[in-house]
Amino acid sequence: MENIIDYINKNKKRYVDELIDFLKIPSISNNPENKPDMLDAAKWVENQLKGVGLENVKIYETDGHPVVYGDWLKAGKDKPTILVYGHYDVQPVDPIELWSNPPFEPVIKDNIIYARGATDDKGQLFIHIKSIEAHIKNTGKLPVNVKVLIEGEEEIGSPNLSKFLKNQSKLLASDYVVISDTSMYAPDLPSICYGLRGLAFMQIDIVGPNRDLHSGSYGGGVNNPINALAHIISKLKDDKGKILIPGFYDDVIPLSDNEREEYEKLPFDEEGFKKNLEIDEIFGEEGYSTKERISGRPTLDCNGIWGGYQGEGAKTVLPSKAGAKVSMRLVPNQQPEIIEKLFIDYVNKISPKSVKVNARALHSGKGSMTAIDTPAVKAAKVALQKGFNVEPVFMREGGSIPIVNSFKEILGADAILLGFGLADENAHSPDEHYDLSNFHRGILSIAYYLTELENLEKYK
Ligand SMILES: [Zn+2]
Repeated sequence: MENIIDYINKNKKRYVDELIDFLKIPSISNNPENKPDMLDAAKWVENQLKGVGLENVKIYETDGHPVVYGDWLKAGKDKPTILVYGHYDVQPVDPIELWSNPPFEPVIKDNIIYARGATDDKGQLFIHIKSIEAHIKNTGKLPVNVKVLIEGEEEIGSPNLSKFLKNQSKLLASDYVVISDTSMYAPDLPSICYGLRGLAFMQIDIVGPNRDLHSGSYGGGVNNPINALAHIISKLKDDKGKILIPGFYDDVIPLSDNEREEYEKLPFDEEGFKKNLEIDEIFGEEGYSTKERISGRPTLDCNGIWGGYQGEGAKTVLPSKAGAKVSMRLVPNQQPEIIEKLFIDYVNKISPKSVKVNARALHSGKGSMTAIDTPAVKAAKVALQKGFNVEPVFMREGGSIPIVNSFKEILGADAILLGFGLADENAHSPDEHYDLSNFHRGILSIAYYLTELENLEKYK
């Protein structure tokens, strides 16, 4: 292991130089004009994978941008197989005028590299390639079986990846998927993300009378769709933040004591949180901390609401229509289809007969979780500790990463999310940047992780 770590430290500058080359390729997946650049980026990744000693390296065509694959499978059947996933495509650069430097001409200032794709995801996926290099160049092998899958369509919603996973399920079969495409909880705090929330997004449309009415002539005799909508929304949640839809919490796995202890360890400044948002009081489900509420518990929120007159001054209208968008963030094990049905049934049940109510589902995604006490997660903790010299934290992400669920459903592989970015690195915005100290410590951590994974029994 010492040789490997020495190698990483000695090659620090070259690793950064190579990253700069990668960042110069404008691989914007949503712009047809960049199609040749997408191919260049795929070839660049292909060359890297070959160069570090991976085998079976190949660019696979899809109906969209190609996928790059490579593997090293000589560790033996008794060793685990991990699948490293990342994406070589980047977000568009607009608004370009807000960039301090051209987005594809990387600049380093104070050990921070500025370029589109620096943190999302080129800098992070490159960590894995360089850790693999350090192992193979020094020992001629990898401690475990490794497959690498780098796609080019993440920023446009991975439209062809599920199909690729299904068609190539044998090629991609693995025990764990390791992804570095998220953030650490805080600077200098290496983090293991073991859970993601799912989503059920709903719309409620209400129709009352067949046309807008004069509230003087008809008011009091006809139900008002906005009033009806307000009644319905008010019955979705109580004033302590508990969701009132019967059965909503049935499939929720309660936070374990162990998890709650880990939540406790996450630094969080509640006063600063309030100050930042200019709110006088925090709000949320009774019995849980803010940290737990925003990632470990399910939610229900109105995202939009409309109806009636919204212009200047007064207009005494009794509107014909009203509506709302409502989203529910779900925790792992809650099934979006079940939640959607419970929502629709409940809204129908509490709706007055005096208006027509149509509640429907628009969009959904499942959450996912890798249990905090699984050997591969415990091994990740040890590896990050060695790579950063700081005790890592466990965290859950409040949002969703749909592809993680595809890995679980199609390949049966649990995901371990080791994000080496920071939340304020402007992913998707001008002046995207990446802290090169996390790049370096990430490479060390993943190099350790590959070694720790070799002896998973000791974490059982
Ligand atoms: Zn990304």
